[in-house]
Amino acid sequence: MSKDKDKLKDYHNKRDFDMSPEPRGDQNFSEDELIFVIQKHNAGNLHYDFRLEVDGVLKSWAIPKGPSTNPDDKRLAIPTEDHPIEYAAFEGVIPEDQYGAGEVIVWDMGSYENTSKKEDASFSMETALQKGHITVYLQGKKLEGGYALIRTGSNENSRWLFMKMKDDKADARRNPVSTEPKSVISGKKIEDLKKDKKDD
Ligand code: MN
Repeated sequence: MSKDKDKLKDYHNKRDFDMSPEPRGDQNFSEDELIFVIQKHNAGNLHYDFRLEVDGVLKSWAIPKGPSTNPDDKRLAIPTEDHPIEYAAFEGVIPEDQYGAGEVIVWDMGSYENTSKKEDASFSMETALQKGHITVYLQGKKLEGGYALIRTGSNENSRWLFMKMKDDKADARRNPVSTEPKSVISGKKIEDLKKDKKDD
């Protein structure tokens, strides 16, 4: 338990939970299957936060351009601090002066399976993270099929690339980031939250 608390140290240090509606987080597992979530986050710079449940927390990457269903696209993915499991359901407005201030919607969510391996050896997610070579099979509402997250350098702060793997769910003609902008939870677009904020 204290181990999981340590994992969320950065997350907790960056936020004031009296000010931010974000969850503090005390749940260290999800219900049945491992979950993933992609949050669209307008923090001045618009980006997509890709999060995978690993060992009681959500491992996180910020993807400026968002995911692509085209295997030819390699999207920059910048690692960010671990988030609590409850964050997967977070949608709302982070107030001004708070870390990550701006609107957040749940752009996609679902379950995932770890498919990481090299030659014939399968890797745990923890090992795959260490090796900087993760493959997962996503079952979301917008994204499905195999995706890879590959670290481009050897140190902890190296950038990663996020890309669709070639399979029957790959589709170079789809562009869900632009054609499917709504939250899979509320049906709201991120612009709707901005309007809600102004109406307060
Ligand atoms: Mn973010």
